[in-house]
Amino acid sequence: MDPMPAQPLPPSSATHDVTNQPPPLAPYDASDDRALLEGLRREGAEWAEADVRRLGVRAGGGEAQEWGELANRHEPELRTHDRYGNRVDEVDFHPSWHDLMRTAVEEGLAGAPWADERVGAHVARTAGGLVWGHTEAGHGCPTSMTYAAVPALRAEPDLAKVYEPLLTSRVYEPGLRVPTEKAGLLAGMGMTEKQGGSDVRTNTTVATPTGEPGVYTLRGHKWFTSAPMCDVFLVLAQAPGGLSCFLVPRVLPDGTRNTFRIQRLKDKLGNRSNASSEPEFDRTVAWLVGPEGRGVKTIIEMVNCTRLDCVMSSATLMRKTLVEAGHHARYRSAFGARLLDQPLMRNVLADLALESEAATTLTLRLAGAADRAVRGDAGERAFRRIATAVGKYWVTKRGPAFTAEALECLGGNGYVEDSGMPRHYREAPLLSIWEGSGNVNALDVLRALVREPESAEALFAELALAEGADTRLDATVTDLKRQLAEADQVTARRLVERMALALQAALLVRHAPPAVADAFCATRLAGDWGHAFGTLPAGTDLDAILERALPERG
Ligand SMILES: Cc1cc2nc3c(=O)[nH]c(=O)nc-3n(C[C@H](O)[C@H](O)[C@H](O)COP(=O)(O)OP(=O)(O)OC[C@H]3O[C@@H](n4cnc5c(N)ncnc54)[C@H](O)[C@@H]3O)c2cc1C
Repeated sequence: MDPMPAQPLPPSSATHDVTNQPPPLAPYDASDDRALLEGLRREGAEWAEADVRRLGVRAGGGEAQEWGELANRHEPELRTHDRYGNRVDEVDFHPSWHDLMRTAVEEGLAGAPWADERVGAHVARTAGGLVWGHTEAGHGCPTSMTYAAVPALRAEPDLAKVYEPLLTSRVYEPGLRVPTEKAGLLAGMGMTEKQGGSDVRTNTTVATPTGEPGVYTLRGHKWFTSAPMCDVFLVLAQAPGGLSCFLVPRVLPDGTRNTFRIQRLKDKLGNRSNASSEPEFDRTVAWLVGPEGRGVKTIIEMVNCTRLDCVMSSATLMRKTLVEAGHHARYRSAFGARLLDQPLMRNVLADLALESEAATTLTLRLAGAADRAVRGDAGERAFRRIATAVGKYWVTKRGPAFTAEALECLGGNGYVEDSGMPRHYREAPLLSIWEGSGNVNALDVLRALVREPESAEALFAELALAEGADTRLDATVTDLKRQLAEADQVTARRLVERMALALQAALLVRHAPPAVADAFCATRLAGDWGHAFGTLPAGTDLDAILERALPERG
């Protein structure tokens, strides 16, 4: 019997044509963000605009976007021992991680601003972070800690003289070698132990003086120490005079390894490109930074800087996911019209755009305050003291809700890893946890009010600059003054949230287009909205808000 004639199999795509899926977003320009560019100019770093724009184009390019994806897909691996059983405690990263790190360091996103005399150097770095962060967030951890270690290290001038030029270098040199023989260094931070992170006074790691001035040995552990391949770490430990700050190199000046036993890497919700470790110290050589017993005071200089970077990273996640959502809505149709033209989707995107602009504007204002504070401006120092904690509390708190909503704009595609949105969503809660969780920052604001009343004066002086421009803002400021008098721990979050919204509104009223400022005040101050994004009231100028945030090009 003749066999059945074989039917040619159709190619796998022959069942249908792929339509109504958006083209890839990359390449795009991550600096195509008016709130960012205007803030950069306003805060004194206009001179950096060309560099920020160049970096923005690079960040949104196919190559850098792929680095971000690969560095997260191929996670760092811990090698505790070599083949002969010797401890090595090394972490191997995918080449894309090194590409991201190299670019960030070369572009001045680590310690470089401390060696840059130009007014606005710290603003320029923050703006650079806002665009380069469109690649991925994990490598922002070691660059941030390296930036932040410099002012803390200055508490020990002899150490700063040796290490500051290397921490502010624009050379990325990975690999464990004698720090002073490298052209550029990275710094990490070890505060959190098993029994307590927020309350570092409970640290049990012991620092024993060796007899040589300033030299101690450590014995104990840390429960979280991110980026363990850094060259040096600022570590808290209990010295005879109390909790103190130490500089711990991974390789000693004679070339031998300092003891830094990495027990495990954390299996984290997100931030997966970055390694977070559990190290143990045993006769680990450490050099005292600042006086014995003043460890918290010394390391708080570092935390002030990393908190600003948490705000920056949350603002970056917002902008990145808004751009992704806008892109999808532009190319995807449902029920006969583009999503971008559907009235309710316009409401969602406009509401997200308001939040994103408020976050970016506040970030750059905080960076401007930091820049002026380090140049000796006492008023800006007082403002920075309270406003950074206020911003850290609120902007990072908004991140998870924002990224979830932006993800939903892509529908089912947004829930799938290929879209990149799950990665951004998973990153968002971290920014509220580390460098002081929500409650800790809210309570820190109360502490500033009591111990440094000039910080509250500076905050209200900033709010007064917008006085008379919007009745809802004026009413909020009056109410805030009343709330201040009643401030206590139970209601600290209410107070700090209100402070943050007033501050964001005051900045938008002064600097953003009227449509943006008006919608922000109506919803965030006067409460004329619902609990979800996309609940802006009737009459909101959605067109103006969207044209500013997501302009249609070409
Ligand atoms: C991915 C990742 C990387 C990290 N990397 C580092 C690192 O490199 N170096 C480092 O030192 N640490 C690092 N950490 C630790 C981080 O800084 C801490 O987890 C954080 O400070 C909170 O400390 P904790 O985990 O001990 O929580 P706890 O201090 O136990 O806090 C638990 C909860 O209680 C709240 N709380 C605390 N005190 C009060 C209070 N008085 N009133 C009301 N509520 C309160 C907190 O807000 C929090 O919600 C990292 C954490 C993560 C998740």
